[in-house]
Amino acid sequence: MEKTFAIIKPDAVERNLIGAILKRIEEEGFKIIALRMTHLSRRQAEGFYYVHKERPFFGELTAYMSSGPAVLISLQRENAVAHWRKIMGATNPEEAEAGTIRKDFGVNIEKNATHGSDSQENADFETGYFFSKIQIHSGAS
Ligand code: ATP
Ligand code: MG
Repeated sequence: MEKTFAIIKPDAVERNLIGAILKRIEEEGFKIIALRMTHLSRRQAEGFYYVHKERPFFGELTAYMSSGPAVLISLQRENAVAHWRKIMGATNPEEAEAGTIRKDFGVNIEKNATHGSDSQENADFETGYFFSKIQIHSGAS
């Protein structure tokens, strides 16, 4: 079974959408392996999004991701990486398909409610950035 890494971003936590988003996750057949709410520091957000460090929006992105608590989640399912990206929808909520999480809950291209790993390699890096091996291995199998 494949794993991916998800974040319920600060804008969604702020608007009381944790429950609604977790409900979708469970309805789509994902197992929640590990979960924790954390207010990231700016440095932690910069480390997480280091692949974007040269992008023009890096400063805004890391300020936003450290602006309030976020929910960090390790998820497991068949085809987990691609399936979570599919049900999240496009980065920009305005371009996301109807029924996707970003279409329904996102505000704009930055405050787009959730994060999802874009490859198995990044899923492993991102999961390991926030969770220890023992937390992942004691979860559902
Ligand atoms: P994520 O990695 O958060 O799942 P994504 O893979 O769909 O999103 P990326 O290109 O990796 O999109 O961008 C990472 C995040 O940076 C986006 O989710 C969004 O919050 C922010 N972002 C992306 N493009 C822009 C932009 N043009 N202006 C402002 N913020 C942006
Ligand atoms: Mg991305």
